[in-house]
Amino acid sequence: MKGTLKIATLFDIPVFLHWSFPLIFLWILFLGYQIDAGLQPIAILSVFFVSIFLCVVLHEYGHALTARKYGVNTRDIILSPIGGVARLERIPSRPVEELLVALAGPAVNLAIALFLFPLLLLFREHGIFFQAESDLEIFSQWSNLGPLILGTNVVLIIFNLVPAFPMDGGRVLRSLLAMKMTRVKATKIAFIVAQFFAFGFFIWGLYFGNYILCFIAIFVVLTSRVEWKSVQRAAAIKGQAVSALMSPIRTKLYQDQSMREAIAALTENEKYFLVFDRNDSVAGVLFYEFIMHAQAEQDLDSTIGKYQSNSWNAFKSDYPLENAIAIFQQRGYGIVPIKENNVLVGQLDINTLNRFVKSI
Ligand SMILES: [Zn+2]
Repeated sequence: MKGTLKIATLFDIPVFLHWSFPLIFLWILFLGYQIDAGLQPIAILSVFFVSIFLCVVLHEYGHALTARKYGVNTRDIILSPIGGVARLERIPSRPVEELLVALAGPAVNLAIALFLFPLLLLFREHGIFFQAESDLEIFSQWSNLGPLILGTNVVLIIFNLVPAFPMDGGRVLRSLLAMKMTRVKATKIAFIVAQFFAFGFFIWGLYFGNYILCFIAIFVVLTSRVEWKSVQRAAAIKGQAVSALMSPIRTKLYQDQSMREAIAALTENEKYFLVFDRNDSVAGVLFYEFIMHAQAEQDLDSTIGKYQSNSWNAFKSDYPLENAIAIFQQRGYGIVPIKENNVLVGQLDINTLNRFVKSI
């Protein structure tokens, strides 16, 4: 992934650090410098942040390994200053599975808190309470590290269980609703609930001058909308075949024609072409970008065969549309021929596909 650094691969799942992650340490140094804290508080603060991010990594593995139990793979785990995210390849289809996957993250933080709590009570003089006269002093004593980590895990549990996307609580709410209704309806209700929470966060943040909360509110509005749209989209696409978006082959280009002829064939609606050999079989594909490249190079007398791409696969006309969209995205296809009983019946291009997806 762009802008990330792989730091480890555990359980076959790579963990990436977002480029902005080291900013936290710059921020710690800046903070330490500003309050003239000396080396020890900076060291304590750094160890504290590393510990919290380890807790976040474990939280994400909670999601990822539970998802694996239900046959869902995790592409990667990405850590950024505002938290972690385990990118699952898909959401488990059964609501109860989604519920357990969503709960598994906060459950890890609960386990850490339940582990630390008795240890602190038993072995620490002040138990779970800080040993400090002022807020600043919290970070000048190593013995405060335990309560700090415990407290942050408790905050992580509460924060993550707020029933608003993209927090885990939003998924918990959606999966509980989906046990009683369709997934689309459940997501719509969860989306509306998220808007209420975002509104509350925003007003609260403004009123108390806590602008991070305002930022989170905006984040909730944007991500919950993406979730609602993508579920709506998936529902609209489900059950449809590629034939629904197939168009007739209006222009036939041949491998031995020149690029000049390809330019002549370009129209507002036709920018991707199937390329045929003289037996009228598909031999390749030609994209708008390739044609423009040839024009920029003033290489218009070359054959189309020189510029065509061989990256395509024929689809059968009853091939599921949702799979086709995924393949277009994964392999960067521009156009594919569509066949029925091995006979070419039409084509599907990326522009038509994008227009359709946008229209839902
Ligand atoms: Zn989570």
